[in-house]
Amino acid sequence: MKPRLRSSELYEEAQQHIVGGVNSPSRSFKAVGGGAPVFMERGQGAYLWDVDGNKYIDYLAAFGPIITGHAHPKVTEAIVRAARDGTLYGTATEHEIRLAKVLKEAIPSMDKVRFVNSGTEAVMTTIRVARAFTGRNKIIKFAGCYHGHADLVLVAAGSGPSTLGIPDSAGIPPSIASEVITVPFNELDGLRIALERWGDEVAAVMVEPIVGNFGMVMPKPGFLEGLCKMARDAGALVIYDEVISAFRFHYGSSQTFSAFSDQDAIRPDLTALGKIIGGGLPIGAYGGRADLMAMIAPLGPAYQAGTMAGNPASVLAGLACLEVLREPGAYERMEAMAVRLADGLQSSADRHGVPLTINRIVGAFSTHFCGHPVTNYEEAQGSDGERFARFFRLMLERGIYLAPSKYEAWFLTIAHTDADIDETLVATQESFREMAG
Ligand code: PLP
Repeated sequence: MKPRLRSSELYEEAQQHIVGGVNSPSRSFKAVGGGAPVFMERGQGAYLWDVDGNKYIDYLAAFGPIITGHAHPKVTEAIVRAARDGTLYGTATEHEIRLAKVLKEAIPSMDKVRFVNSGTEAVMTTIRVARAFTGRNKIIKFAGCYHGHADLVLVAAGSGPSTLGIPDSAGIPPSIASEVITVPFNELDGLRIALERWGDEVAAVMVEPIVGNFGMVMPKPGFLEGLCKMARDAGALVIYDEVISAFRFHYGSSQTFSAFSDQDAIRPDLTALGKIIGGGLPIGAYGGRADLMAMIAPLGPAYQAGTMAGNPASVLAGLACLEVLREPGAYERMEAMAVRLADGLQSSADRHGVPLTINRIVGAFSTHFCGHPVTNYEEAQGSDGERFARFFRLMLERGIYLAPSKYEAWFLTIAHTDADIDETLVATQESFREMAG
């Protein structure tokens, strides 16, 4: 590995012009000991190359969207086609109908769809729809679930279901925070207490049905069923934030995932999408029951618009990406590699006496440095961030690019090969050996 001198230079320069030197805080290395983040220059398949000429096996996958690997030929071709035909018309296009139909086929609870530009926008608008439809203001969310950076969902309240929201960010008025109730994930008691107290004021219960933001965490059996029933009994809607989970574990959403047997019992009213459905270009989408979606302008009184929404480049890239994912064996291959990688990681950590909890779901997994299971945010918080930071750095020096946060997942793509897994496992063994020594 060559010293990352150019990355350091660019970081110095970036900080003079771009706040914090990065355009999203999750790209900074603050959570892994600070210093210059790596500036990348090129991506191809499962690899990234930095500005100093170093090659990395990439498990960040741009925080999820790059499931086909970088610069997949079919996605690239779609983007080139869009560039040639003009990238934006400010009119309707046939491409949008095609992507809407593809999404509706895969996610049966979406009678109608609307495209936006990011997961944040998608989530934000589902809340507006829920409020417009129910005439209620409050939402319930789960501690540690991330739903983008709109004011309302940047509120966490620890895990006490009886406290109202405390903003996680400056600049959020207490009046907004007071509309959010945060309860612990994977236990229904908190939700029950919150609904008993505020049930008739709650517009929606919002959840990542399979969590991707404090590690990968499956809902316990009965959790989603109970959540949906309790929300409905209180007259509140259920919103699934599937910005990470849709098309990540199989061709569809959580609602159609084979791990859940009673799909009707976990059917959401509204779903927010993003990431994978744009094939690496900016996109978001939300959809749901026709009567709820009819609340949105131009049909209904709830306003939502977007100059870039449904732009041909994002839509064509998304269509191409989803077509690639429909190829037989795509998810099975990602799963087989993730199993080998996660098993190898676990046994190498065990051998060196490093406590490690791996939560794997199909082709994605999280690594928490702790000796206890991780089923909720509190348990995830209890993992050792300093150990993770050390591991991150040791892996980086061996050409393995992980997300720079103990909470983020490792994502396999269809571009990873067995040889990549072998190389990663060698890096892992060396890293654990150094950590133990
Ligand atoms: N919802 C979830 C579950 C996410 O993980 C994210 C982003 O990581 C978002 C919403 C926000 O999406 P975006 O970053 O596209 O605004």
